[in-house]
Amino acid sequence: GSVIGILGGGQLGRMLSVAAARLGYRTHVYEPAANPPAAHVAERVVTAPYEDAAALRAFAEGVDVITYEFENVPTAALDLLESLRPIRPNRRALAVSQDRMLEKDFLSGIGLTTAPYAAVTTLTELEAALARIGTPAILKTTRLGYDGKGQVRIADVSAAEGALAAMQGAASVLEGFVTFTREVSVIAARGLSGEVAAYDPGENVHVDGILSTTTVPATLTPGQRTDAVLLAARILNALDYVGVMGVELFVTPAGLVVNEIAPRVHNSGHWTQNGCAVDQFEQHIRAIAGWPLGDGSRHADVVMENLIGDDVARVPQIAREPNAAIHLYGKAEARPGRKMGHVNRVRQPA
Ligand code: ATP
Ligand code: MG
Ligand code: MG
Repeated sequence: GSVIGILGGGQLGRMLSVAAARLGYRTHVYEPAANPPAAHVAERVVTAPYEDAAALRAFAEGVDVITYEFENVPTAALDLLESLRPIRPNRRALAVSQDRMLEKDFLSGIGLTTAPYAAVTTLTELEAALARIGTPAILKTTRLGYDGKGQVRIADVSAAEGALAAMQGAASVLEGFVTFTREVSVIAARGLSGEVAAYDPGENVHVDGILSTTTVPATLTPGQRTDAVLLAARILNALDYVGVMGVELFVTPAGLVVNEIAPRVHNSGHWTQNGCAVDQFEQHIRAIAGWPLGDGSRHADVVMENLIGDDVARVPQIAREPNAAIHLYGKAEARPGRKMGHVNRVRQPA
């Protein structure tokens, strides 16, 4: 049988490995950190840094196709891997989502609305950007941010200097603050043949910059729901994308604003494990392996709750609830802010 290579061995890589196994594939995982969550399910785990050319080469030669659960793989590693095996989703999707400036330029280039933004490295540039965009605003590092790390809010211009200092010299993007009524995301997939399937948008609540819950159905008008799905499809088609993508959106009275895209399975798509016949992990494996896609239709209402840090201590009580599907990542230590698992509370629609 074929082997699927996965870059990154966190919980997303673990759940991708489970889905691949269900479809009859073996998985090899490449992960710099020792003993990652995916190690319990993958056939092989390569523990090596992304700078280790020999390890990368051996990994690629042992698999048929390469995918990833982590979009910040260094370019040189991707160049080497791509010379040996197909990488799906493709390099352009990775390049665009690794860099908030490229991402926003791409999104606005295909006619979508983002927050007003400007590239900023010096205080002069920041002050000019604040004069144009206004306050409140958010300064974010252009690369490598996640879970709200690497961003600072700027309430008024007097906070500019401190905010810039917090970026520690990293290239940054200033974004105007979007006053949204809610946050939603669309998890969508595109197959090798170009077919697109989208899941029902989920409504997301973040606490301290980290996703806390996703609820389906989201509170959206039929028009907003259609807009969200069509907009996601436009992004996938424009990138000639293969695989699952998460598209994060702000809902505003003036329409939908795209926050960011993630070229992989997404935390806000975990509800699909218990709300759909074909979940986002199976869908991603189907897409990158050239299978037909599931249609993404939803058979239940679901509230997904992330179990972060000490939340995992509540698992014994949660296990007594009759309709709570529990997904744990097998992480030994419950550090603050660490995603330990999630629970999908399922309600059949009337
Ligand atoms: P993720 O873990 O989703 O990759 P991240 O670190 O890339 O997170 P963002 O998604 O950019 O961060 O921002 C985190 C949250 O902060 C958003 O979900 C939203 O709640 C808020 N936020 C970010 N940018 C803006 C903005 N321009 N206007 C209003 N709120 C924002
Ligand atoms: Mg992000
Ligand atoms: Mg985000």
